[in-house]
Amino acid sequence: MTRILVVGSVALDSVKTSEGESRDALGGSAVYFSLAARHFAPVSIVGVVGRDFPSAHRRMLEGRGIDLAGLRAEAGKTFRWAGKYGRDMAGAKTLETQLNVFKDFRPALSEEQKGAPVLFLANIDPELQADVLAQMRRPQIVACDTMNFWIASKLPALKELLSKVHIFFGNEEEAKKLTRQPNALRAARVISEWGPSVVVIKKGEHGAVLKAGKEVFVFPAFPLETVKDPTGAGDSFAGGFMGYLASVGGCEDAHHLKRAVLYGTVMASFNVEDFSTRRLESLERGDLEERFVDFLERLTVPREAALA
Ligand code: AMP
Repeated sequence: MTRILVVGSVALDSVKTSEGESRDALGGSAVYFSLAARHFAPVSIVGVVGRDFPSAHRRMLEGRGIDLAGLRAEAGKTFRWAGKYGRDMAGAKTLETQLNVFKDFRPALSEEQKGAPVLFLANIDPELQADVLAQMRRPQIVACDTMNFWIASKLPALKELLSKVHIFFGNEEEAKKLTRQPNALRAARVISEWGPSVVVIKKGEHGAVLKAGKEVFVFPAFPLETVKDPTGAGDSFAGGFMGYLASVGGCEDAHHLKRAVLYGTVMASFNVEDFSTRRLESLERGDLEERFVDFLERLTVPREAALA
């Protein structure tokens, strides 16, 4: 089965929302991504933690089939992020980013990791993302994500990276900031001109836009009345999306890309139901498929009704 290699943050997050708070809880872009993608394909994480990283988190991830051979433990502290959300849960306000062991991290991939057919460059320093990509032999699908922190501090490295990837994920605010465009569609067009033929712009509770080559498709979000913690929504979306693509083995076909958005949307909807990675830890494939069908039924407008 197609293996996915992911490089990204493995973090201890402190998050405050109107529904409660968590302190030094498991997080990080690579973690959310892997917990989502594992339902579709084997996943290996490349990253670094400090000696303070609880071994219970390692055991939990390995217990869910995630390969941690590439997760190094270095002297120092684990990456930490603190953020809070307003009542509408739209967009995190970063309170603190401590790179800690990520500051000096230079990943060296094993021969097996270099041969992975699918690579996800999750949100982390774009120079690290490029470093990993440069070591790969011939990946068939390469995707990347980023966030405001890197758009503000490493724009040239990020643009250079974008010229080498097939798929880009970003939220609407980041995409507009990155491209200096006024709306998601124009931002997606500009990003696709820089390199990626597939661009996914996420709009939180308003769904997502998929640009696949010249075509554009729009999707609503799965309707949820209560969101407890939106942290990791983007990464779990990417995990569902990339996991599904890895399981079908390609990113050319619009039909597969549309299904990938549906799986990403459903995965993110589970993730935001609880703090940290709690809901993704307990999620089973059956829950996922049940909500996937539920989502499809809500989406469908019978042709006859639409045309009447
Ligand atoms: P998301 O909500 O999907 O955008 O991702 C949230 C995750 O990204 C959190 O678990 C954080 O630990 C992680 N994160 C926050 N800021 C950064 C950063 N500058 N670089 C890498 N990861 C980050």
